[in-house]
Formats: sequence, structure tokens, C-alpha cells
Amino acid sequence: MNLSSKNHQGIGMTSQRTRDRLIQRLKDQGIDNESVLEVMRRMPRHLFVDEALAHRAYEDTALPIGYAQTISQPYIVALMTQRLLVPGMPNSVLEIGTGCGYQTAVLANIFPQVYSVERIEALYKAAKKRLAELDLFNVQLRHTDGNGGWPNLNYQFDRIIVTAACNEVPENLTTQLANDGVMIFPFDNGQDQTLTQITRTSQGLVSKSLEKVSFVPMLPGII
Ligand code: SAH
Repeated sequence: MNLSSKNHQGIGMTSQRTRDRLIQRLKDQGIDNESVLEVMRRMPRHLFVDEALAHRAYEDTALPIGYAQTISQPYIVALMTQRLLVPGMPNSVLEIGTGCGYQTAVLANIFPQVYSVERIEALYKAAKKRLAELDLFNVQLRHTDGNGGWPNLNYQFDRIIVTAACNEVPENLTTQLANDGVMIFPFDNGQDQTLTQITRTSQGLVSKSLEKVSFVPMLPGII
């Protein structure tokens, strides 16, 4: 990641000191994976939001990114990423819902191969530009409906992360999950959302509920 320019380093409310405070907060909330903490400590989150919101970029909160969408709360990004790393060191990860590309950038500093899809073309284009500016060349992005997973695939992913809430287990995605692969997604039962982990074992899919969350909904089609 190219973090050498002044813009990437940040000053005042985007300075390293402000970022370090966020990392301490994540630790206090139970995030303990050193590589996740280190990547998020270095990641210039202020570059993923509108300039007018840059001073709030290191608060542990979701922020608007336009088109009625949000950049996820740092704690949730850390929690989901940490979950994907247990157990072992997977090679490839598919993300559904690129948004501004922040979660994608965190993944790209940890996983060798990152694939991410977004249904809103304007967000897809902006994320593509941002990730190239950060020299993250191990990411492939597509403007497509993630309900179908990665298009025309003859490959399965070690990990899948869905960053929009699903009303049912997304079966098109579980078929793209490799053996021993782990998928994490927010499941919306109509009343509330629960972060859910699915593991593909030799006996089939095993599901586990994690914690209550709040995500924008997974929507059909592209715009
Ligand atoms: N990963 C982002 C979170 C963005 S919010 C982050 O780091 O902050 C969720 C995103 O999922 C939105 O950009 C939304 O447009 C996208 N999304 C919703 N339904 C989708 C679908 N069917 N296919 C692809 N992207 C979808």
C-alpha cells in the first residue's frame, strides 16, 4: 500500500494519533488479531469518505457514502475480517458489496487474492480508482449483482464476506465456497440482523450465529 504521500498520512483529525485511538478502541472491544489491527492502524479511512466527513473518519461509526449506502463501522470491519482468518491463512476472498472499498482495502492487505462486486456503478468506479491509488493490485472488482456471486466462475473461494443484509442464506454464494471455506453474512429475519458464519464441511454446511448487527439491505439488480 502506498501510504507515503501527505494526503495518505493525514493531519489533525486524520493524523496517526487519531487513528491509534481508534485501534485502542477496537482492542478494548475484543479485536485481538494483530494483522487486522496493524492494517487498520495504517489504513487511511478518511480517503474513503467525502472530504466533508474526513474529520469523522476515525470515529467508530458507519458514515454515509452517497446513494443511500454507508461505509461500515470500523469495529464491524475488524470483527468480520478477524472471523475470516480463523482458522488458518486462506488464499482468496470474495466480498459482496464493495461500497467505497474500505473493507476491500483491509482484505487486500491481508489476503493474497481479493474479489469484490458492487451493484451501484458510481460506487464501483470510485472504489476502483481509490484502490488503484493505494496500489492495491491484488483486487479484482466487478459491477454486478452479488446475488449471483462472481460471474462465470469455475473456481471456489476460501472465504466469502457479504456486507449487505440477506433475508435468506444466499445459496448462489455457498456454491462458490470451497471445502473448509467460511462465509460470513448479516442475516435479516425481518426483525433484526445477526452476523452469521457458515462453514462448508465434508458433512455439509454448518451455521453459527455471532452478534447483532445493522447493515444496509442486499438489493437485486444493478444500477
Ligand atoms: N464493504 C463496504 C460496505 C458498503 S455498504 C465498506 O467497506 O464500507 C454495502 C454495499 O453493498 C453497498 O454499496 C450496496 O450498494 C452493496 N450491495 C447491496 N446489494 C448488493 C448486491 N446485490 N450486489 C452487489 N452489491 C450490493
